[in-house]
Amino acid sequence: MKFVKLSQEDIENISHFYQNMIGDAREILLYIWGKAVGDKMSELIEEGEEDSLKRAKNLMEGRGWVEEIELEEDLVTAKGSIEVDKTLEMPSCNLLRGMICGLYEGVRGGLIEVKEVKCQSLDHEHCEFEIKEKKFE
Ligand SMILES: [Zn+2]
Repeated sequence: MKFVKLSQEDIENISHFYQNMIGDAREILLYIWGKAVGDKMSELIEEGEEDSLKRAKNLMEGRGWVEEIELEEDLVTAKGSIEVDKTLEMPSCNLLRGMICGLYEGVRGGLIEVKEVKCQSLDHEHCEFEIKEKKFE
């Protein structure tokens, strides 16, 4: 498999470009982008693999999306996300949010909803994501 390297500045420029073109729909676009990456990454984790979340951690850290990530049953914390962007004044890790969704859906099955409730872009100590089963009302 071939890889390319994108810098944090590249990611930031793409995000700002989307923001100028399509406003807050940027978040959805980046989320879908990340989800596609997470879906593919989850295929590298064997079904029922005991340490599947540890494997997901190694993939995300190894590929440089985050410096450090801890994946638990219904909570994910990350430090050094490539998407931290203090100019946005909102949780900014939409690629990561999508990636986490793709990984959890791939590993667990079913539909998952991921919400970023803390973000280093907002000067929180780490980024924090809540994992919930998606419910349709
Ligand atoms: Zn964040």
